[in-house]
Amino acid sequence: MSHGIIAPYRVPALLELSRVGEQPALVYKYVSLQADRLVVPDHRTLSSFRGLVNATDQEILDFAKRFGVLEWPPESEKTLWEKESASKFDEIPLATKKGERYDFLGQWRALAQELDAFIKIARDLGKGEDPSDELWKDLFGRVPSEARERRFENKRALLLNRFNDRIEMSDLRPMLSRKSDDYRITFAGGNLKGALLGLTIQGLIGQRLRICARCSEIFEPQGKRKYCEGCPQGAHADAARRHRKRKASTRSPV
Ligand SMILES: [Zn+2]
Repeated sequence: MSHGIIAPYRVPALLELSRVGEQPALVYKYVSLQADRLVVPDHRTLSSFRGLVNATDQEILDFAKRFGVLEWPPESEKTLWEKESASKFDEIPLATKKGERYDFLGQWRALAQELDAFIKIARDLGKGEDPSDELWKDLFGRVPSEARERRFENKRALLLNRFNDRIEMSDLRPMLSRKSDDYRITFAGGNLKGALLGLTIQGLIGQRLRICARCSEIFEPQGKRKYCEGCPQGAHADAARRHRKRKASTRSPV
């Protein structure tokens, strides 16, 4: 029942691998409502995206054809983005001469690594465990001094600030929806990047999606499950719980 966790968005009809400046890039163009495809992202979108850290160019193109593009940076964040990456991709315009836009493939791999590290750090902190230096490096490129402090409060703040910066640099926005009589917040990502951030938020909140306490996979929880279906430890714990339940119910006839 993943439908509706994140609002649908468009996959551009025109998508190809190319180079912008010296950088390998995914060049794209939205064509029309008819030609572009609508995609409904779910937790599996985020799972496969996290696996793209070492993906080939072709694998990234294939993913983009199914799930759309990051649109990094969108027009609105140009200034902020240029400041951040001036040394890396300096003086490159947002669109090519033909009016096509692009994502750098390096940005795809960097975001895959960052989101994966972010979710794993959140899982560790959630269990009261200290995340490894490797994870902090994957997220920040270094180990920030707050990560070395004993207080978990500061580590959590570090994580949240980073994530909120990312949200600010995306097209993610809240949407109000209704389930029977209750209003609830859902998210519109606008593109793949917004959708990935929205899915991560749902995983952190833990109601509609949850981070597996063991492998950090984001999954759709059934009841209070802490582990995804792929984790034997989780399956074992759940089987034990079901067994206890069955035993209890046979003892006390209804
Ligand atoms: Zn798991």
